[in-house]
Amino acid sequence: MAPCHFPENFPGGTMSFQHGAGWMPLLAKADDALARYGARVAGAKEKLGSCRAFIRGDVPQDVSEQLRLWIRDQSLCTCEVCGADGSMRTWGWRLQVRCDRCDDEVING
Ligand SMILES: [Zn+2]
Repeated sequence: MAPCHFPENFPGGTMSFQHGAGWMPLLAKADDALARYGARVAGAKEKLGSCRAFIRGDVPQDVSEQLRLWIRDQSLCTCEVCGADGSMRTWGWRLQVRCDRCDDEVING
């Protein structure tokens, strides 16, 4: 898996990101959108193949809800490994959104 450089963009240093680097650009966009509220993406994790984000700060409920839904929807078509267009794949009992290239690597490599 590619190294994750994303936490360097979050100087708070308390973020917890438990997923592949491919979703980091999504969360960076969400973080930008939250900046006007003085809020941040506080962390995120993979659950059932999609990205669940945690938002910290004083954000209107509907805004944070929409943003979380946007992140989830985007993550469902974004390779968790590399960020390319992807779709939900399974291996064993796990679910993960991957592109064709990363899927090949998981299966063959
Ligand atoms: Zn990929």
